Amino acid sequence: MGDCVFCKIIAGEFGTEFLYEDDLCVIFKDMAPKAPTHLLIVSKKHIVSIAEMDDSDEVIVAHLISCARDVAKSIGLRGYNLQINVGKDGGQEVFHLHIHLMSKFNS
Ligand code: AMP
Repeated sequence: MGDCVFCKIIAGEFGTEFLYEDDLCVIFKDMAPKAPTHLLIVSKKHIVSIAEMDDSDEVIVAHLISCARDVAKSIGLRGYNLQINVGKDGGQEVFHLHIHLMSKFNS
């Protein structure tokens, strides 16, 4: 957790602009967008991945999805994809639970 880039972002160390923040998550733009709209919905709790989560973290994962829905609606997206990469072989590069929200539409 000490070297986790997302923990540092959540702590405000990089001055990252949050599109949304609450007790459980933050939302910010991916620094290397792979679609016209590419946001990250990130758990405040340092959970390594879906594979590492406890059953008690289900409420957090459900909340991340609800927040993805809400931010997509608030920025007027007509359609989008949600993606969770799990593990190195699943394309995960940052080992702190997050959902990618990507859309071919600009927000
Ligand atoms: P993943 O491959 O699912 O772990 O996705 C990690 C994502 O985090 C990648 O799309 C990166 O571009 C993004 N990312 C890494 N560091 C930062 C950062 N400091 N600010 C914004 N996005 C980041």
